[in-house]
Amino acid sequence: MRSTLSLSLFLTLATVARAQIAPGQEVNVAIGAECPAGTVSIRPGRCRAPTMTPPNLVDYRPRSTVAAAPTTQRKAKFPVTDWHGHPQGSLGSLAAIRALGLTLDSLNIRVMVAADRLSGDRLRATRARLDSVPEMRDRIKLMAGYDFRDVGPAWAAKAVKQLEADVAAGAVAVGEIQQGFGLSTKKADGTRLTLNDPDLAPFWEACARLKMPVFIHVADPAQFFEPIDANNERWLELSLFPGRRYDPAQFPAFETLMKERDDLFRRQPRTTFVIAHLGWNGNDVPRLRALFDKYPNVYSEIGAVLYEIGRQPRAYQDLFMHYPDRILFGKDSFQPDEYPYFWRVLESRDDYFDYYRPYHAFWKLYGLGLPDAVLKKVYSENAARLMRK
Ligand SMILES: [Zn+2]
Repeated sequence: MRSTLSLSLFLTLATVARAQIAPGQEVNVAIGAECPAGTVSIRPGRCRAPTMTPPNLVDYRPRSTVAAAPTTQRKAKFPVTDWHGHPQGSLGSLAAIRALGLTLDSLNIRVMVAADRLSGDRLRATRARLDSVPEMRDRIKLMAGYDFRDVGPAWAAKAVKQLEADVAAGAVAVGEIQQGFGLSTKKADGTRLTLNDPDLAPFWEACARLKMPVFIHVADPAQFFEPIDANNERWLELSLFPGRRYDPAQFPAFETLMKERDDLFRRQPRTTFVIAHLGWNGNDVPRLRALFDKYPNVYSEIGAVLYEIGRQPRAYQDLFMHYPDRILFGKDSFQPDEYPYFWRVLESRDDYFDYYRPYHAFWKLYGLGLPDAVLKKVYSENAARLMRK
């Protein structure tokens, strides 16, 4: 009874507190202080509430008035290797493989590396199917994937044997190792498998010996580890896909994973690692630079993080110019209509245009206007150098 009373009292007070700011009303705050909820800073120290009911976050879609030619460029300027391909169903039949070739042609994607973790019989069968389509034989490369569950002292020997067989069957890299590794995958003894677990060392060493680069997705956007509130940049995404949130009670912290990841790179200097999605450090370009400087065996791919590159065009122009050999083009989710956004950000000097997933980024993107020599490296030369021949 008492708690019901105090709850209703609390609700009444909360309603009153919110209602205290009337439409159009002004509130003064200390210079530099944040305006109260429901108001907007209009001058230093002055906040005002809108006079009309504001549209909500989902429905607010202002049309840009910036005069700019729409980009209709479907094809990349130079032939591309997509390091982070997930063609999945498109490799299941000869007809599907041929159709995939036509789609890739329409975008000027010359090579797709399928990061779908094939191994053993499935890898061999897929390779054989691809090899039976002469025009596609050199255009689809396959990564090999391994099961990191139940790792113990005997795990590596078995995995290395499978890796050697997969190399013989034509795999060009290991991957994509997915984010479960580090976040939730358990060892045979029930503990969390850390990224730098010593039981895995012989496997990474075998990757180096066999010249197999390792394509690894560690963690997820840092915002997924933070509270879902009005300060979280990914509030909309977390609200649309609540399963993407990593509750600290259940999962290691973002920084714990970064520490383990970097320790893995340090312990295995002869193994080449390609981090997926700019390592989810795309919002921190100085950190990326430090990573490239500290670990010469580390490369990055840019799948699904175009919104980070496009919102920091100068920082990324510098990054691409300083590390043109360390960044690989990759797309992730196979949606042909989304590739031209990448061409536009990397190639054009366009200002203020939309990203393809409004729930990833409520901001606009800008073109980097990268020079041809850098584009060629990022689009294909770096991938050609790294993948196993
Ligand atoms: Zn992927």
